[in-house]
Amino acid sequence: MSDGATTRVVIIGGGFAGINAAKVLARDRRIAVTLIDRSNHHLFQPLLYQVAMAGLSPADIAVPIRGLLSRFRKVSVVQDTVTGIDLEAKQVSATGQSWSYDYLVVATGARHAYFGHDEWESNAPGLKTLSQATEIRRRVLQAFESAENEEDPEVRKELLTFAIVGGGPTGVELAGAIAELSRSTLTKDFRRIDPRRTRVVLIEAGPQILAAFSAASAVRATRDLEELGAQVWTESLVTDVSEDSITIGNDGEKLRTRTVLWAAGVHASELGSALSGELDRQGRVPVGADLSVAGHPEVFALGDLARTEDDSGAVLPGVAPVAMQAGRYVGRLIRAELAGKERRPFRYVDKGQMATIGRSKAVVETGRLRLGGFLAWAAWLLIHIYYLSSFRNRALVLVQWAWSYVTFGRGARLIVDREWRNPET
Ligand SMILES: Cc1cc2nc3c(=O)[nH]c(=O)nc-3n(C[C@H](O)[C@H](O)[C@H](O)COP(=O)(O)OP(=O)(O)OC[C@H]3O[C@@H](n4cnc5c(N)ncnc54)[C@H](O)[C@@H]3O)c2cc1C
Repeated sequence: MSDGATTRVVIIGGGFAGINAAKVLARDRRIAVTLIDRSNHHLFQPLLYQVAMAGLSPADIAVPIRGLLSRFRKVSVVQDTVTGIDLEAKQVSATGQSWSYDYLVVATGARHAYFGHDEWESNAPGLKTLSQATEIRRRVLQAFESAENEEDPEVRKELLTFAIVGGGPTGVELAGAIAELSRSTLTKDFRRIDPRRTRVVLIEAGPQILAAFSAASAVRATRDLEELGAQVWTESLVTDVSEDSITIGNDGEKLRTRTVLWAAGVHASELGSALSGELDRQGRVPVGADLSVAGHPEVFALGDLARTEDDSGAVLPGVAPVAMQAGRYVGRLIRAELAGKERRPFRYVDKGQMATIGRSKAVVETGRLRLGGFLAWAAWLLIHIYYLSSFRNRALVLVQWAWSYVTFGRGARLIVDREWRNPET
């Protein structure tokens, strides 16, 4: 609590935005920071698909928030789920405790959206948390095991068919990884089935995959996926998901499959409704040029939770660099304001976008530069390793990758979790 001279900053969410804000604020002795997250770890979401596809282990891409911030004495970390924000009383409440603040930074991210069909979730898990990643890994590996034991050729075919819904970077990465897993890593592991006959279908409602990329990159990624053995279906709107099939379009075309993975559509964290009555269609909180919420200059919404516009009015995408830069910006803004300086607007520096396809291809777009193939994959690898910073095992991850690159191995091919609980519901 405030001792008069200390400014209390409460940060909700220890993702890319929250952690970066905390690190900047922690260096100011006038400020006491309380960071609250429902989970005890900060997660490097861009590599979640590697955990889901048995390429990396959970501990390679997650780090305890407490450990990340332990060297900053004026930062307290609390593991709890925030359930309410009282903007007038300047109070945040969680299960059984509450905090008063002078400044509030809300960065609670986003969750999956099933376009009004939440009932699809149990048959089509999304990829957002570590438990979801290990559940996807379990389902994919279990499908091969069950196919090996299956006598009925039709059921075996269903077990060896994988549908990925959503042709954004995550869908492309999952489709490429399953295709590769079946055609390289697993080929010698089974006796009764031939994993190379696995069918992987990437299903996208729009006219091209990787909608945020140029048409040329999308064509290249489609070709790369097809070379790996995956099929790409565009203009294919999913209208139903059941235990053993997925339905496309209104005329009821069915793809029989026992494994559907969901990589389409996100919705901002529910906490946004405590900050604004004017959320956009994806539940994002509109923020001003200083990332504050209308009518509350002491409250900021950042990252995937916020609808942030650039100078031209374009909405910034829900990607890690936007969240990281926003976190650092708000940290600096609060420090500068305490030093009596005026607020300056947030300016996002766009360094481009990338998506990887299998273990040695990618597409990268930065400025006018368009890269594909192995060179793009090498750039992707270097950037991801670089941003795994603050993860103590960065070097280990690199060695592990190099090893699996040479051997086609996927060391984390373990079926461990039997029960799944979505922490977001
Ligand atoms: C599978 C996947 C792949 C991705 N790949 C890329 C990529 O290649 N490149 C890229 O730039 N971006 C990628 N992204 C997007 C990127 O990860 C997000 O834009 C980024 O994580 C947003 O950061 P954030 O801080 O806003 O939210 P998050 O990182 O999601 O953090 C939100 C935090 O808030 C906590 N929280 C939520 N609700 C509460 C509550 N009520 N109480 C307490 N704590 C709460 C959560 O536990 C979490 O720690 C990917 C995302 C996913 C899911």
